Amino acid sequence: MENGAAKPVIVAIDGPSGTGKSSTSKAVAAQLGLSYLDTGAQYRAITWWMVTNGIDLEDPSAIAAVAGKPEIVSGTDPADPTISVDGTDVAGPIRTQEVTARVSAVSAVPEVRARITELQRSLAASAETGIVVEGRDIGTTVLPDADLKIFLTASAEARAARRSGELKGADVNATREALIKRDAADSSRKTSPLAKADDAVEVDTTELTLAQVIECVVTLVEEKRAGK
Ligand code: C5P
Repeated sequence: MENGAAKPVIVAIDGPSGTGKSSTSKAVAAQLGLSYLDTGAQYRAITWWMVTNGIDLEDPSAIAAVAGKPEIVSGTDPADPTISVDGTDVAGPIRTQEVTARVSAVSAVPEVRARITELQRSLAASAETGIVVEGRDIGTTVLPDADLKIFLTASAEARAARRSGELKGADVNATREALIKRDAADSSRKTSPLAKADDAVEVDTTELTLAQVIECVVTLVEEKRAGK
């Protein structure tokens, strides 16, 4: 079958922070003509709204009570992924240290997860050629029937070094501690924790370049499409 006529392909890419999920997912989607969804950006966006509106983030019931309020819209073009809350572009503000430090507490609240999961499923269902969805629980919970599930890993050192590079000179040790803390919170929460699906392909990116990881995932998607 020609690519244009192929049935939509759903690719789930999960893993902890700093494993190259976003760069890999965006590049794979662009290369294969698929949509792209950064689900971390959605959790960051709802967290940004809560911080901006003075919600008590120590109180899960206060978070749950307003989880349905903000309207979060994700643009899924891999060449220009966008994220807005109530019509405001929040691509910059969701990357601040304050949001990063608080996102795990917000994303652990079941009402928040239910709301965001619904958005994710509807975006995946409407992607015409298919979609690459990256996150923590995509293969296990959001899209358990995905055609291909990838779980990216890397050593804590490699992840911290990459993140510090992205944050332009941030202290590697502090970044490493912050990453480990966030991963521990994301992995230990009750609702839909960070986890590898049983049928996911695990790719350890510690010793690989970004180009090698992209090539590996593109090959896996093409094999799936070819029915191998
Ligand atoms: O991927 P990123 O670092 O931007 O994700 C930010 C946070 O969003 C994670 O630390 C996690 O708390 C939450 N998240 C989640 N489930 C997902 C994606 C992200 O809980 N599928």
